[in-house]
Amino acid sequence: MRQLLFIFIATTHFFMTTTVERLHKFLLGSHLNKEGALAVKSALTIVEILVAAKCCFRCCLRFLACANFGLYALQETDLNDAFDQLLYEDRQAKYDVADCAVCTACLGSIQYAASYVDDVYEELKKEDYKADSCCLTCTLPVGMLLRDHLLKVHIINTLLEKYADQEYTSELVRFYRDNSVRDPKDCFKHLFGIEFKEKTGLGLDADGTLLMTVVISHEPTSKDHLFMTELKKPLLNLRTVRQKRMRVTVGDSRPSIIDALKRLDSEEAKSFTSIPPVAPTERAKFETVTLLHTSSHVGGRYLKFSREYSQTPWAIKGRKLTEYSVSECFAEIIRKYHRADDIKFVTAGREDANVRMLGTGRPFYLEIINPRSPRLTDAEYKQIEQEINSQPMHKDNVQVRHLGYIEPKYTSIIKEGEETKTKRYRALVWLSEPLTDQLIERINKVGSTPFTIQQKTPVRVFQRRSAAVRPKIIHTSTIARLKHDVDMDSPEAHYGVLQLHTQAGTYIKEYVHGDLGRTLPNLASVGAIHSADLLELDVMDVDLVWPPQLEDKLEEKKPLNDVKNENNKRPLSNIE
Ligand SMILES: [Zn+2]
Repeated sequence: MRQLLFIFIATTHFFMTTTVERLHKFLLGSHLNKEGALAVKSALTIVEILVAAKCCFRCCLRFLACANFGLYALQETDLNDAFDQLLYEDRQAKYDVADCAVCTACLGSIQYAASYVDDVYEELKKEDYKADSCCLTCTLPVGMLLRDHLLKVHIINTLLEKYADQEYTSELVRFYRDNSVRDPKDCFKHLFGIEFKEKTGLGLDADGTLLMTVVISHEPTSKDHLFMTELKKPLLNLRTVRQKRMRVTVGDSRPSIIDALKRLDSEEAKSFTSIPPVAPTERAKFETVTLLHTSSHVGGRYLKFSREYSQTPWAIKGRKLTEYSVSECFAEIIRKYHRADDIKFVTAGREDANVRMLGTGRPFYLEIINPRSPRLTDAEYKQIEQEINSQPMHKDNVQVRHLGYIEPKYTSIIKEGEETKTKRYRALVWLSEPLTDQLIERINKVGSTPFTIQQKTPVRVFQRRSAAVRPKIIHTSTIARLKHDVDMDSPEAHYGVLQLHTQAGTYIKEYVHGDLGRTLPNLASVGAIHSADLLELDVMDVDLVWPPQLEDKLEEKKPLNDVKNENNKRPLSNIE
């Protein structure tokens, strides 16, 4: 029973811990002095110095190296009351707080951190992002760097002048000489985050998908650091350079200022700037917020029935070489649905404009840049697919299959498969001799088992690829006549349909015409004839499981098992 009562008292006590108790606990454990009681006295003195210099209580916590964000989140008046009570208990005095002042240290940016949420919220509403978590980065007024430094100098000077007789002073001076003031960004993010969550329901998270970059600035103090260019030995050196056709001044970046402050002689500084710095008359203003959602990915396979569409817009010196391109047929529609800034088209290999892409289609994905709607429903992707496939202008030339959302981790499959995957082709070829039964047999006998060809870099791609000899495997190769009963004396007898199953990256055109002997063996040498040429080429299959479909997902669709291999949709067992 006694034990139960104890637990009861302990829990109520926990919930009823007052602000004063919380603050006192933090001060006892602060690193200002090894002895708890002296640490409290030290802290109360520091706050006395800072309040006299018109700093807010949140900045006081910063100067006390407080890492407990719960304390920062307290109301200014509650912090004031709590500090007052502790000071009164210690030395029967009260803090002399100025009315409605803007903090000398943070210029209001930490003091009124929550007030900047409204501007960001407005922008967020305007763009209507469908995000589920945000990552905040912030740029606070540059003037704070100098002010934090000068206030630290002021603390040390005041301790030595007015508190020299206190037993904690020497340790406290050492503390401020050795440590820099706590970075205000974390405090800002925490305070901003509480209000932001209240307003939007969105939490801040370092891994958040919507990146918000908030800039808070304070114009009146933004150039205060420039006195460091006028010192006897200047610590900042400004110079103008041209950047993107504009003249800009460089030399006073934040890292340069931080570095200069480390070397600043405080005696010399006194003749340029006041220590402590004067309290500002206006508070820091919200300047901008930049919103950027991480990219989404949409994947599928495309089919191309035309010999006049290039894969991507193809132009030389502004003149279009093909009227249309595959990517133009669907990129804009998908961009529009995701309300994105831009789209990047990535494919598993490519085919020339005059080559058709048939069979199961070519795997691709689109990187959707800065999407306002990052992910659509399966039904919506189905609808987009239908819209793409029914465009009057393109529907007979380009079609899309299996369009859907792709987890970012799977996008690498498309590029990784480059060397290992295989492709199937169908080519219309011309031979220098009629395609007799003997010739068919010679070619098909070699092609019945895998064989390796050596390809020197083709003449036509010499500008793009380095000179090398690349061995490629032809897994199978079969040739057939266009018609069974063709007259061997007719010109028609010189035509054949060649089916190839090859390693990815094989130059098919060069295998057929030999590229002036640069590809060996080639179709003519295999058939022991003078020459061969390629007239038309179709890609029949790109052997890659895409879009990725996991086994469990296939399980759900058991009734459709008979189409499991359609468009290469086999279960993926090597992932996850
Ligand atoms: Zn402040």
